[in-house]
Amino acid sequence: MTEKPALKLKRLQDLQFRGKRVLARVDYNVPMKGSRIEDDARIRATLPTLEALIAGGAKVVLISHLGRPKGKADPKYTLKPAAEALAKLLKKPVAFAPDCVGPEAEKAVAALKSGGVLLLENLRFHAEEEANDPAFAKALAKHGDLFIQDAFGALHRAHASTAGVTRLLPGAIGFLVQKELEFLDRAIGNPTRPFLAIIGGAKVSDKLLVLDKLLERVDALLIGGGMAYTFLAAQGINIGKSLLEKDQIDAAKAVIEKAYNKKVECLLPADHVAVREIKPDAEIVVTQAMSIPSDLIGVDIGPHTIEFFDEHVAKAKTIFWNGPMGIFEIPAFADGSLAVAKAMAEATKGGATTIVGGGDSLSVLKKAGLADRMSHCSTGGGASLELLEGKVLPGLAALAS
Ligand code: AMP
Repeated sequence: MTEKPALKLKRLQDLQFRGKRVLARVDYNVPMKGSRIEDDARIRATLPTLEALIAGGAKVVLISHLGRPKGKADPKYTLKPAAEALAKLLKKPVAFAPDCVGPEAEKAVAALKSGGVLLLENLRFHAEEEANDPAFAKALAKHGDLFIQDAFGALHRAHASTAGVTRLLPGAIGFLVQKELEFLDRAIGNPTRPFLAIIGGAKVSDKLLVLDKLLERVDALLIGGGMAYTFLAAQGINIGKSLLEKDQIDAAKAVIEKAYNKKVECLLPADHVAVREIKPDAEIVVTQAMSIPSDLIGVDIGPHTIEFFDEHVAKAKTIFWNGPMGIFEIPAFADGSLAVAKAMAEATKGGATTIVGGGDSLSVLKKAGLADRMSHCSTGGGASLELLEGKVLPGLAALAS
């Protein structure tokens, strides 16, 4: 992937769509339990775009993927529940077609009236979607006169519905993508300082590029979660049986060295919640220092670390958070992540810009009931990281050219 040039992107408000068929790529890849939607945040996030299109008299044709049906129709991954949820949110009927291409889809599109909304079945029921197949992109493009890209969470993939189709229709970005770019680009480009990044999660290898890029921008970097142990090991500190990526030790050393050279404060956990075995009722040991006894596994940041992470959050004017501070799925190991969520909510109240990316960090916020207390929660973990890494997202590059 290439370095990021300034992309010239048309916006939804630059297009005239009265009476036109508008093919809109949305991201309704929502978490499901059976046929029930567990969290409709991604559907809600598209409402500003859809309401503008409806009010402007467009015939709205929505396309999305859901899950990984492996290129064939699978009722487990139908988007029908999403159509029903959307109808409730919009308070108007939403038509549904059982395929995204072919005669049935075309008939449903032809039946649309101005201001009407239709959701087509899961794009990934066709292997051609992920293969970015030109004939499939053409079949999708048949449904629209104009194209709107509002699937932020899918922009880092070059698929038929995110890249192929955008070259075939005049297009623009919807309000959700505009909001994501405004926050994530501003965080990269022109943050109010001090700018603090809090990065956690399991693996150094997944976050290395973003760490490297963030070091060019931030004033302080806090590292927690499983990845922190590789950083501690790189400093020669005993981490017991905690998660270690041996092949990332040199990379971790390089991050610390770069932080030092750039005068960026790079902070690692100073104490830990540790257990002998990862299980919900495990006996907890709070270490008194950075090192972890050889028979223990670090599962969360400790109380002293929470305290000085909190102090840094309180001082910052821009804060970006990605990745949990511990194995938050187990309530006894979630305190560190919940503390970050609370400190960030306080910071938002105090006027800081707080941005959260990544599914796990969002789960923490939801558990804490604090999702609406952030300046911005990104709907795309992978896409937000790639944007912060300075990469051109294929879905945007296709729209700009
Ligand atoms: P990521 O997808 O890289 O953001 O990682 C999220 C995962 O990291 C979550 O499933 C956490 O359970 C896991 N994680 C966080 N802290 C630790 C830890 N100390 N040891 C093992 N896994 C962890």
